[in-house]
Amino acid sequence: MNGLMMDFPLTLNHFLERAGKLFPKEEIVTRLPDKSLHRYTYGDFYRRSRALAEALQKAGLRPGDRVATLSWNTYAHLEAYFGIPAAGGVLHPLNLRLHPSDIAYIINHAEDRFLIVDDVLLKLYEAIRDHVKLERVMVVPLTGQPVPEGLTSYEEFLATASGDFTYPEIEEHAAMGMCYTSGTTGRPKGALYSHRSMVLHSLGSALPDTLNLSSRDTLLPVVPMFHVMAWGLPFTGVMAGCKLVMPGPHLDPVSLLDLYEGEKVTKTAGVPTIWLGILQALQKEPNRWKLGAMEMVVGGSAAPEAMIRAFDQFGLKVLHAWGMTEMSPLGTTSRLKRNLLDLPQDEQYRYRAKQGLPTPLVEVRAMNEQGEVPWDDKTLGELQVRGPWVASSYFRLESERDKWTEDGWFRTGDVVAIDPEGYVRIADRTKDLIKSGGEWISSIDLENALMSHPAVKEAAVIALPHPKWDERPLAAVVLKEGMSATPEELRAYLEPRFAKWWLPDAFVFVDEIPRTSTGKFMKSRLREQYQGYDWN
Ligand code: ADP
Repeated sequence: MNGLMMDFPLTLNHFLERAGKLFPKEEIVTRLPDKSLHRYTYGDFYRRSRALAEALQKAGLRPGDRVATLSWNTYAHLEAYFGIPAAGGVLHPLNLRLHPSDIAYIINHAEDRFLIVDDVLLKLYEAIRDHVKLERVMVVPLTGQPVPEGLTSYEEFLATASGDFTYPEIEEHAAMGMCYTSGTTGRPKGALYSHRSMVLHSLGSALPDTLNLSSRDTLLPVVPMFHVMAWGLPFTGVMAGCKLVMPGPHLDPVSLLDLYEGEKVTKTAGVPTIWLGILQALQKEPNRWKLGAMEMVVGGSAAPEAMIRAFDQFGLKVLHAWGMTEMSPLGTTSRLKRNLLDLPQDEQYRYRAKQGLPTPLVEVRAMNEQGEVPWDDKTLGELQVRGPWVASSYFRLESERDKWTEDGWFRTGDVVAIDPEGYVRIADRTKDLIKSGGEWISSIDLENALMSHPAVKEAAVIALPHPKWDERPLAAVVLKEGMSATPEELRAYLEPRFAKWWLPDAFVFVDEIPRTSTGKFMKSRLREQYQGYDWN
């Protein structure tokens, strides 16, 4: 027997309408390229997002058409986030840190029809324009510089709307947006999100044991809106009615800290690289900023335990989270269950440094050749997931079917141990694991330990071929300014924490660790650099 409940479609239009009706006076603040602050309200955002939807319809947008954005985190980008799906279009944020040839490949693969671009990014657009077929390009005037010939001013485009917009009928399974992975191995792959998946992801993200977002929060997503939709935060934040603070192109520690203080931010999110910079700025000038109790969501790469501890000293709480482009992205968050709150501090930190518990509606399992591995915190296996906001295939890429198991789980490519409480701990990405003498060594564990050494700013541990052991670890270390350490000291520091055969055979000191477009250690580059390393 079926329930007798309405078949109410889960679409983002509901969020937009709700925001316009319930929170019209709530603020959205954007740091502009000239560093001044642009302020407007949810009421303005609501009207302008609907105007964008209407203008797109008038310009001939058909349901399912892709509209790309090449933009920083700004109010206009937020309008695109809601206006494009409201018109039945598919929002496609482009990663502006990719090489122009990769951006062009992605635009062509997605068959983007329109583009909205920040005026400060026009140079980048120039580098791709001859390699793509875009029907119309709208330029957001963030600096006020004139719009080049042949392109449309975003403001003039909005002005073509009458203000009398009606939503097209949108089915909840309709696509609303897409993101491509950064493609560190092979070509970028596209995940195609639906209205339903994004609505459920927003609900799941806002929960108290997940990101805990409410209308009392002021949210500043540092994670770019071109990186997995800024982890869905623009949708979750608008759903919850948060005050939103958009950092624009200024992601340096001082600019961010000024915004945290000035706008009284309570929740922020980004990759560890950003937080390491912020931590250093705070340590250098501990009394410069007066920050309230702010929670920082850290994901994208492992949050070192030392970093979590260091922020606690400034009254700032790190919330470790794990996710993937293919998962919209949220998979796990590491909040302590009630029965863990009485544990000694050190053990609590150990839990907080794990990637955490699966979010409601996300199911996890870890698999090895024998099948599902026990949740004993020791046995490693490949993490597989399923849930309503997990991709069921890539966009137009049938060759990648082996990323899904026969019984319908997504293979994350992360190697994990799950503990008896259900907390997931990532040991490595499959391709970064170090296989030494038939056993696995976790590069993340070694990196985190190294990064707790007082002289170490950053460390990346990679596998290099070894004549006897198959592979052995090499640690690339960046020292803090004015600090020193020798390989022997670092080795001695690691010794009490690991089995002997885990210890890196070599330590090299570098000025910086190469990074991907989303700020993660680019270990493939490091492996190339140290290829043929002489272990003697
Ligand atoms: P890309 O492949 O471009 O890096 P994603 O941003 O989707 O794309 O990255 C997802 C991967 O990032 C995960 O599979 C995992 O390896 C890594 N990752 C994300 N969050 C964490 C975390 N908290 N700890 C460790 N690794 C993480």
